[in-house]
Amino acid sequence: MANKMKIFQFPCREDNYGVILSDPETGLVISIDAPEEEPIADVLEDKRLKLTHILTTHHHGDHVAANAALKAAHACEIIGPKKEEAKIPGIDKSVDHGDTFELQGQRIEVIGTPGHTLGQIAYYFPDQKAVFAADAMFALGCGRIFEGDAAMMHLAMQRLAALPDETKVYAGHEYTLSNARFAVTIDPENKALIERAKEIEHLRDEGTPTLPTTIGVEKETNPFLRAHDPKIRALLVMESATDEEVFAEIRARKDRF
Ligand code: ZN
Ligand code: FE
Repeated sequence: MANKMKIFQFPCREDNYGVILSDPETGLVISIDAPEEEPIADVLEDKRLKLTHILTTHHHGDHVAANAALKAAHACEIIGPKKEEAKIPGIDKSVDHGDTFELQGQRIEVIGTPGHTLGQIAYYFPDQKAVFAADAMFALGCGRIFEGDAAMMHLAMQRLAALPDETKVYAGHEYTLSNARFAVTIDPENKALIERAKEIEHLRDEGTPTLPTTIGVEKETNPFLRAHDPKIRALLVMESATDEEVFAEIRARKDRF
């Protein structure tokens, strides 16, 4: 069993989250993506950490903006998605779906989560029981489909849902309030969802983050993981459709919400 890592989550930009993981025993310090230089630099300074790695999930500007500056300041190694290699500033090493690698004894598994972009990946740390899902899975939501299609995004969500229920899910954005308001229109009789939606209104009123969530909570309440649910299918009048078709319809409705 690898050392337990400290995980710091903090807001960046408009509604992004930055995440830094630190293993005090080995000096391993990882930033998941690099949305914005200043808040990341502040956390590193505050905790007296030297950044050793950036793990990039996808090429969007709000996830790679600080790659160059952080690399210049810390000489950190940047690891990112093979399929987007050419678009990741400062990338040193690329990884793809199914790859496993170790950093200072910490095992990291790469899960391909295409759809939002064609090459997006998530990083799963089994010993920390945590996955960093960026713009694939959000609390009560899933990423917008920019480069791929609904089938890809459905696959991405199913891959993440296959992780153990207790896995903590860190995501790229605080979108939970609007996701919750949409989710109850799709799954209005789901008691766990209704309770959670109330809790989220309360948390956001106070400016409290709603992340991380867990795979177990998402499976119970996230409509994008519930395409098989008979009540959702009845509401959409899609009783005989495939899960993928139901998923695509929910995604299309969210785009118009
Ligand atoms: Zn993105
Ligand atoms: Fe993003």
